[in-house]
Amino acid sequence: MVPLILASKTIAELRAAARKTPSIEICGLITRTPQNKDRIFPAENVHPEPTRAFELCPRAQIDVFKYTRHSGARLLAVYHSHPYGLAVPSSADRAGLGYPKVHTLIIAPNQPVPYMIRAWRLTSDGFIETPLQSSD
Ligand SMILES: [Zn+2]
Repeated sequence: MVPLILASKTIAELRAAARKTPSIEICGLITRTPQNKDRIFPAENVHPEPTRAFELCPRAQIDVFKYTRHSGARLLAVYHSHPYGLAVPSSADRAGLGYPKVHTLIIAPNQPVPYMIRAWRLTSDGFIETPLQSSD
């Protein structure tokens, strides 16, 4: 499977954001330009139970839509954190909160580095892991 390559700076930013807000799941979107420049759009988690699930604020999705339309960038990934769990899709994630055409990135700030951020893709067979690589 083709790995997802993320700049180490992007990975570090996601990790720091998840660590900064350990009581709720953080969430947001990542876009990528044709020149492989990524941009993180943090979103407010508007889920009624943000300690155990996430729902992207619609405002952030509109901002990303406008940005991609004008810049030629595409939506690459939707990310969220699991403050206390593993970086694997939870039952809430599997219950239909996935985004089928983009990567789902899960950040588990309490896990050791190789397991702290993992990438998933929602397919008709459920979530399948995509190898994640960092670049400088
Ligand atoms: Zn989750």
